[in-house]
Amino acid sequence: MTIPDITILHDQPIRTWFNCGGVAHRLARPVNVQEVVRCVEVDAQLRVLGDGANLLVADGGVRELVVVLEGGEFGRVEIDRERGVVSAGAGVKLPGLIHEAIKAGLCGLENLGGIPASIGGAVVMNAGGAFGQIGDYVLAVQGVTRRGECVVVPREEIRFDYRHADFGGHAGLIVTRVDLGLVKGDSAAARAKLLEVMAYKKRTQPMAAYSAGCTFKNPVLGADVAGVGVAGSRVSAGMLIDKAGCKGVRVGGAEVSVQHGNFFVTHPGCTAGDILGLMGLVARRVREEFGVVLSAEVAVWGVYD
Ligand SMILES: Cc1cc2nc3c(=O)[nH]c(=O)nc-3n(C[C@H](O)[C@H](O)[C@H](O)COP(=O)(O)OP(=O)(O)OC[C@H]3O[C@@H](n4cnc5c(N)ncnc54)[C@H](O)[C@@H]3O)c2cc1C
Repeated sequence: MTIPDITILHDQPIRTWFNCGGVAHRLARPVNVQEVVRCVEVDAQLRVLGDGANLLVADGGVRELVVVLEGGEFGRVEIDRERGVVSAGAGVKLPGLIHEAIKAGLCGLENLGGIPASIGGAVVMNAGGAFGQIGDYVLAVQGVTRRGECVVVPREEIRFDYRHADFGGHAGLIVTRVDLGLVKGDSAAARAKLLEVMAYKKRTQPMAAYSAGCTFKNPVLGADVAGVGVAGSRVSAGMLIDKAGCKGVRVGGAEVSVQHGNFFVTHPGCTAGDILGLMGLVARRVREEFGVVLSAEVAVWGVYD
């Protein structure tokens, strides 16, 4: 089916870092902003697929139009070394961009080493960790709203919170391009920092296994919990999962990593249902043990009431 200049493909696999899950019943690959606007006309509820590094797709697949921002202008990078500005299309992969910026003598992004993401997905999730978060570098975001308007949202209007970006009046913004402000610096020092960040990640996380990184958000405690933390503090979900005795627990082909309790890794034959089952089981055990409710960090598509 072709709707003006947008080709809609049917029953296409969705590549995710879990390496399992259902298909996109309808999928489009726009290459410019006008085509994204057309996609919104086709389905204002559309889902944007980034690098699939924080995504679980239910086995039955996704009813909404799935939009992949990869080609054309969404894969382009412009670097203005003098102004310290890197402008990247939403589909540009973060690890490659870190190297490009370092090569150009622009520093900052090396703090985000070891995070698989598209730039769009990284900004929407405010990806980061012990060494910083992408929101620290964002100057402006371009996007398409669910009403089909093209907007530029300046930094001042974006609220970056823990694993979340709020684009003011533009809820559900489809991010198409991001301007990042970096500082001129020493490429060798930035490369050394990147290696340090990567080494830390390899030591603490199962980077070689299929997973979507942290499964649950680190919760804020509603009350003091003995041996865990005081009311109002944000505590590690991985620590709670570990203390609840869940490391190594399996449902079908899904397993709580023995290296990092908040990473759920998948084995051959794993289904999205296995991962959802494991998420339910672990969340239940943590609630029973500590009275703490865990909420998913991974985006879950295709679960309908
Ligand atoms: C091994 C491993 C390690 C990880 N380590 C970290 C870490 O240290 N810190 C961290 O924060 N995360 C980490 N993650 C999770 C993941 O890297 C981040 O959440 C990342 O931001 C996901 O980006 P993505 O492009 O893959 O988004 P996807 O997984 O494709 O999508 C995630 C969500 O973002 C939305 N989205 C994606 N692109 C756009 C867009 N252009 N416009 C609007 N919405 C969009 C999707 O619709 C979806 O809701 C890790 C994941 C893995 C597999």
